Amino acid sequence: MLLKDKVALVTGSTSGIGLAIARALAAEGARVMLNGFGDQAEIAAIQDELAQLSGDCAGYSDADLSKPDAIDEMVANCTNELGSPSILVNNAGIQHVAPVDEFPPEKWDAIIAVNLSAVFHTTRLCLPSMRQRGWGRIINTASAHSLVASPNKAPYVAAKHGVAGFTKAVALEASRDGVTANCISPGYVWTTLVENQIPDTMKARGLTREQVMNDVLLAAQPTKRFVEPVEVASLALYLCRPEAGSITGANLSMDGGWTAQ
Ligand code: NAD
Repeated sequence: MLLKDKVALVTGSTSGIGLAIARALAAEGARVMLNGFGDQAEIAAIQDELAQLSGDCAGYSDADLSKPDAIDEMVANCTNELGSPSILVNNAGIQHVAPVDEFPPEKWDAIIAVNLSAVFHTTRLCLPSMRQRGWGRIINTASAHSLVASPNKAPYVAAKHGVAGFTKAVALEASRDGVTANCISPGYVWTTLVENQIPDTMKARGLTREQVMNDVLLAAQPTKRFVEPVEVASLALYLCRPEAGSITGANLSMDGGWTAQ
């Protein structure tokens, strides 16, 4: 197995893209530390599933990534329970949709904290042990919104552009240490994050559910289909392979052609 004896910390992995990435890494033998919110029984079942997939154990942290102290604790717990992570997937993300002049300031703070600042905190805490080991993979789930904007998503767009820039800087700093840092930038992926923004977009733009899906979400995605979480997961897994060692500082689009336009 490709990732036997490797520890992977995957933030925001109790659902959606993060869960698909956790499964893909566990299937290659990684000991995965899950993180995110959700029903405790469901999360315990996911832990069991990952342990079965990897033939090893899986951990879970309920750290709220908007809180730097909780991030410290999560990385310490991961190190104590499973070992220091040599794969860090910064995937947790939140969204809120509103015009910039009506955007609640506390929502701006939350989006920047979870989608951007948490990426800094996990990276600064995990990078030293990756360097010591001479091998590491930092994979950040950015977004097509790290490259282009959409109306009513100013904080999300700002945070994701920030993640893309941060990733480049980390890639350069770690370039001689066997550590790569990359972003994956999906277009619209069918997950709860997308489903949850439909009502707000309906309200903000005065549209029906079908209009939001076809005329707003998939309007910019030439393939006219949502990206599947497993597609993102297989790219994340590829970035962990030895032959991906020269891919660093990249922002890899998986957006059905959205940002080619
Ligand atoms: P999701 O809502 O299914 O998953 C989000 C995960 O983050 C969950 O596990 C949730 O519990 C966790 N989370 C949320 N707030 C948290 C916090 N404060 N602390 C810790 N964990 C927290 O969403 P998803 O679509 O799978 O999104 C995953 C990532 O992919 C996000 O960074 C998102 O911005 C990005 N992304 C999603 C899409 C899409 O279309 N779904 C497109 C591009 C990028």
